[in-house]
Amino acid sequence: MGADNDLTGDGMDNGDQDIEGTEDTDGMEGTGGGDHSGAARVVRRDEAVRAAVEQGLLGPDSPIVGLLDVTGIRESAAQLRAAFDAVTAPGTPVLHAFAVKATPLVPVLRLLREAGIGAEVASPGELALARAAGVRPERTVLDSPAKTPAELREALALGIAVNADNPQELARIDGLIRSAASRSPIGIRVNPQVGGGSIGATSTATATSKFGVALRDEGAREWIVRACAERPWLTRLHAHTGSQGIPLSLMAQGVAETYALAEEINRHLGRRQIDTLDIGGGLPVNFGSDATSPTYAQYARLLSEAVPGLFDGRYGLVTEFGRSLLAKHGTVVARVEYAKSAGGRPVAVTHAGVQVATRTVYVPGSWPLRIAAYDAKGRPKEGPEVVQDIAGPACFAGDLLAEGRALPLLEQGDYAAALDTGAYYFAHHYAYNSLARPGIYGFAPSGDGGTGGGVAFATVRTPQTLDEIVAESGGAHASALTTL
Ligand SMILES: *Cc1c(COP(=O)(O)O)cnc(C)c1O
Repeated sequence: MGADNDLTGDGMDNGDQDIEGTEDTDGMEGTGGGDHSGAARVVRRDEAVRAAVEQGLLGPDSPIVGLLDVTGIRESAAQLRAAFDAVTAPGTPVLHAFAVKATPLVPVLRLLREAGIGAEVASPGELALARAAGVRPERTVLDSPAKTPAELREALALGIAVNADNPQELARIDGLIRSAASRSPIGIRVNPQVGGGSIGATSTATATSKFGVALRDEGAREWIVRACAERPWLTRLHAHTGSQGIPLSLMAQGVAETYALAEEINRHLGRRQIDTLDIGGGLPVNFGSDATSPTYAQYARLLSEAVPGLFDGRYGLVTEFGRSLLAKHGTVVARVEYAKSAGGRPVAVTHAGVQVATRTVYVPGSWPLRIAAYDAKGRPKEGPEVVQDIAGPACFAGDLLAEGRALPLLEQGDYAAALDTGAYYFAHHYAYNSLARPGIYGFAPSGDGGTGGGVAFATVRTPQTLDEIVAESGGAHASALTTL
């Protein structure tokens, strides 16, 4: 309902829609429905793990699952909308487009759609997922550094907003628009080159980043102003200053530089041609505790102080948050197949490793995960903490979810949960050792409080079967090479 009723012609919320949920989420850290402490989320998670064991989703024959907290996802979506509503002039068009990259699962995109959130896509696959979820073209944004002519043609035919990455892409769009008119709002991505954060791989605004038009390079600003002067349909600027590891102040600086460029363009042209700023995503997630920090409200307030003109109603806004909407609402739970000891170090060999936590396993210093210990019945494990390794199932020594972690001693048949894994983890399967993609289940209170342990589950993705693994691994071409 909500998501479909609050549209204006340009596909954006117009500020007069009913906000999803009833939480008072602005500036309410630690109080009320905002639940920024995460305490309520921990209770929901513990109940879900126990219910998953009781209901047989988890067990000896199903030793790993991904769980998604539907209540938490809805709360984050409502918090995002409320945070920007609180700082934007009434009537300002705002589209929050979820970065599909973060959790590319159709039921998640549908859930977010129902919570008033659109989709930011960066590949034909992501666009297909957004369309399968029913996200409308008016609420979809296409960004990607390597769009083919066919991708651009499709996006323009559908009326999806497109952010061109570079001058060559803009030239392609010129040609396509000449041959067929399009409703698509068109923007250009800029790299404000404000610098990187603590994680190189997610720093998009370094001097030499591959994304967008590098704004501080010789002649770049002049080129953009000219490109706009020649193209009355070029109405947006886009910047995504970084993801995890970027300080908020740097993100705000990137937005401020983009805003200043829009003002310069409009002043130069003597008209308000740039009418929308897409400020990207990138709000960092706290992987160190259950608290939601920073909050959307904090970021929106910071932006409104750093770039007040952005919120006075002269510009429409697009945001592209990914990790911050989903990360804290996902949990990987894996059975301890064996508990052993090596060199005096206890090692819990579980079914969660590099296939579901690729970044953590390969770059543990940048992507540490919290681990929670549960007993064989799915109850939080008690007992003195013991320094131990939590290992994955893959056949290389570095396949460790956590190394030297102090936890109640994990024993055979217990469960280890990797927390805050709702984005860029179990939905980003890595096919090492042909390990199967685990099933993913959403959970919510069932209301019955009875046989289901008070928790209801819904299948988001079925576990991958062995037949599917064979088929995806060339099973239909078994003799292709021997007959060549
Ligand atoms: C990855 C990405 C996002 C989302 O980043 P998060 O850190 O997940 O919020 C948004 N916009 C663009 C262009 C991206 O590449």
